[in-house]
Amino acid sequence: MTAQIINGKEISAAFRKTLAQKIADFPSEDMPVLAVILVGDDDASKIYVRNKQKAAAEVGIGCEVMEFSSTIGEQALLNVIDELNANHHIDGIIVQLPLPKHLDRLKILSRIAPSKDVDGFSPYNTGLLSYNSPDAFISATPKGILHLLLSTGIELEGKHAVIIGRSNIVGRPVSTLLLNQNCTVTITHSRTQDLPSIVKTADIIIAACGQPCLIKGDWIKEGAVVIDVGINRIDGKLCGDVDFAEAVNKASFITPVPGGVGPMTVAMLLANTFAAFCRHQQSSHHCNCDHHHCNCQG
Ligand code: NAD
Repeated sequence: MTAQIINGKEISAAFRKTLAQKIADFPSEDMPVLAVILVGDDDASKIYVRNKQKAAAEVGIGCEVMEFSSTIGEQALLNVIDELNANHHIDGIIVQLPLPKHLDRLKILSRIAPSKDVDGFSPYNTGLLSYNSPDAFISATPKGILHLLLSTGIELEGKHAVIIGRSNIVGRPVSTLLLNQNCTVTITHSRTQDLPSIVKTADIIIAACGQPCLIKGDWIKEGAVVIDVGINRIDGKLCGDVDFAEAVNKASFITPVPGGVGPMTVAMLLANTFAAFCRHQQSSHHCNCDHHHCNCQG
């Protein structure tokens, strides 16, 4: 069997085109605006933020990047978030991760107003996700993964999904999201014993462990769907957590790295920002949009 490639680049481009049209058609003079807080000099973070800014501009979302020194104090950063929370022109607020070690990530992320938490990392939104609430902002990478899975047309209900990784950014929210889709979910991590045997039982594999090419072809059940979230570099070359050359001969569908999950992440962040904008417009009586019905979450 040779797997069909799930082309995240194309799916993301189509999604962003539709989103741009929805934003253009939205009956308001205002423009959705995303505020990005960037702390420190991490080169990768700077590139991610630049990509977000560019993608936002392309769909008609304003993006205000606020840069701070890595030595900024916790209270000063909390004050910045308070100001953005109170600013009616800002619809979404994200804090680019990772943060310097002296800053308490949970405390910082918890300070973002739930209605502006478009990364969905706050305890409030992760709680809403656990309740399977339509009001939850679902964090971008897990939401993108679900979009890619749905693009294959496979039925998710009753499928055994094995998630490799239990981080708050990917593994845990993906597991909740798939549970909400009625998958049977197994979460594995660095202390899991006999990972290959567990992976072998999966109909859907979500690899999010940051270990280059860890998942081998003979770990994969014939016909499984493989979503590779990992972004690793070997000798400067990008690779995922799955040994693609082997897995492509076992899976029914597989995402490449690059060009799979990565391009979806920014698209979903933009969709969340537009959803926040719709809610804000509605709550300030600027329009008649009912965000449950206008499908602005994409
Ligand atoms: P993380 O380091 O926070 O978490 C890694 C998880 O993998 C942990 O739960 C750990 O227990 C588990 N793990 C580590 N080694 C393992 C092993 N040998 N066997 C089983 N489990 C193991 O990482 P993260 O932030 O969740 O990111 C995971 C990967 O996804 C990274 O490569 C990251 O770059 C990538 N990522 C990609 C996107 C995207 O948009 N494509 C977004 C976020 C993260």
